[in-house]
Amino acid sequence: MLDAIVIGTGPNGLVAAATLARHGWKVLALEARERPGGAVYSEAFTLPHYLHDVGAAFFPFADDSPAFRSLELIGAGLQWRNARRESCHPAPDGSCVSISRDIDLSAASFGADGDAWRRLAQWRQRMGERLPAALLSPLPALKAAIRLGPVHLTRLGLAGMTTTAGFSRRLFQSEAARRVIPGLALHVDLGPNDFAGTGLGLVLALLAASPGFRVPVGGARAITEAILLRFRESGGELRLNTHVDEVLVRRQRAVAVRTSTGEEFPVRHAILCNVGAPALFLRLLKARHVNHWLRASMRRFRYGWGTFKMDWALAGPVPWNAAEAWESAVIHAGDSVQDLVAFTEQVRGGHLPANPYLVIGQQSLVDPSRAPPGGQTLWAYSRVPNTLSDGWKGQREAFADRIEERIEGLAPGFRRLIRGRAIFAPPDLEAMNENLVGGDLGGGSAQWSQQLFLRPAFPYFNYRTPVKGLYLASASAHPGAGVHGACGFNAARRALADAPA
Ligand SMILES: Cc1cc2nc3c(=O)[nH]c(=O)nc-3n(C[C@H](O)[C@H](O)[C@H](O)COP(=O)(O)OP(=O)(O)OC[C@H]3O[C@@H](n4cnc5c(N)ncnc54)[C@H](O)[C@@H]3O)c2cc1C
Repeated sequence: MLDAIVIGTGPNGLVAAATLARHGWKVLALEARERPGGAVYSEAFTLPHYLHDVGAAFFPFADDSPAFRSLELIGAGLQWRNARRESCHPAPDGSCVSISRDIDLSAASFGADGDAWRRLAQWRQRMGERLPAALLSPLPALKAAIRLGPVHLTRLGLAGMTTTAGFSRRLFQSEAARRVIPGLALHVDLGPNDFAGTGLGLVLALLAASPGFRVPVGGARAITEAILLRFRESGGELRLNTHVDEVLVRRQRAVAVRTSTGEEFPVRHAILCNVGAPALFLRLLKARHVNHWLRASMRRFRYGWGTFKMDWALAGPVPWNAAEAWESAVIHAGDSVQDLVAFTEQVRGGHLPANPYLVIGQQSLVDPSRAPPGGQTLWAYSRVPNTLSDGWKGQREAFADRIEERIEGLAPGFRRLIRGRAIFAPPDLEAMNENLVGGDLGGGSAQWSQQLFLRPAFPYFNYRTPVKGLYLASASAHPGAGVHGACGFNAARRALADAPA
């Protein structure tokens, strides 16, 4: 009999499966789609020989994640690369600031704010690997917090409670430097004036300084393949094209799963779910197994904004006006804090943004294997409402054109280089991966009301559920979005600790 079943094979599901299998458990991973990896995979969907990441593309946790480190992914063939600059923030007025791992290079780019940046980067250095450990540990994370120390903890905590606009105004003098942290916080649904928005923007800025926004050689799917190798070499089994419709419960214990074809898989110890929290508690479990409080919380559960993602096959490098952008892994297009405030208001108001804020990735700059000789790939996303009142049909191409116009404004001549493009509006993303509800890339909103002890709902922050032997192991659990595998790793360790010796 199987010891454990893992439902879903995104990075969290695969890490959970590999961790359990390496412990000696007999594990079956079931994946709804025709391929593993969830939002961490790569395909040539524009032109042949141009390899694009379907979702995640930059990995600020990379091998600093305790989960990835425990699986020794470097030994499994994973290779990380960094660009000379990690995160570049140009604007049409010609101003530009960029973060590099080299403190002097960053300080020079920050100009009058160079010393302020230097102090932040040196703080990052002092925290070392204690920072990712504290961010990714299961709550209450006492050991990790003690290791980090009260000074760093208090400083992070106090900064985290502020708005990114306020924090940046106090820290920096120039508009160019002031738009960096608010721009980074907009990777998720945290606008410049949102209470406690700074936590994530600041952490991303610190991680850009070290270890940087890393890129795996061979595409994001190299991460999935490395974890899968670890899973399989420990005897784990993967079944694709297998959608789990129900978790079967007997005497308040998870005992089996039933697939959409009616097949049942019984299990001895644990079922780990790499699915969204509402999907688990409102769909996969019969209502009688979930208490009223949790069902009500799941009906109130908030998803993050939608994501509108594009990929391009280009005939050459993007001709950025800003010299620093030519050597940056990631470019952030946001003109000013005010521009980011307007963007936030439009998306929250249910409108397509007039001047879309963009996260833009130049993977092939760092990993030339992604494009044919002379060619380049480009990846970008903006945040949009989850749904549009008139639907996406008439808006998809027009909004894609608006995004290209935005890049053209920063890099005149960009459009002439386009040889192919692919567009993924929120419904396309959700059709690809049902965890991306309404195009939300984070498994649920990153607002404070759904973080830490409140993720996905109090008191179920520690991966356990009201059903014995059933665990939540997706980005809907702490610490949430991002490719670090921590949700799956922590859930697997919880399952191992709960199992009879
Ligand atoms: C466009 C985009 C860009 C992103 N950029 C970055 C980035 O640059 N860096 C970063 O760190 N993060 C990024 N992210 C976020 C990151 O990809 C996610 O946070 C991460 O993939 C979440 O991992 P997961 O394992 O929880 O779930 P997912 O990766 O969403 O995988 C879930 C898997 O479970 C399967 N599944 C769901 N329900 C069932 C079921 N009932 N039965 C069987 N299988 C099921 C799905 O098919 C899917 O394969 C991005 C995401 C997107 C969409």
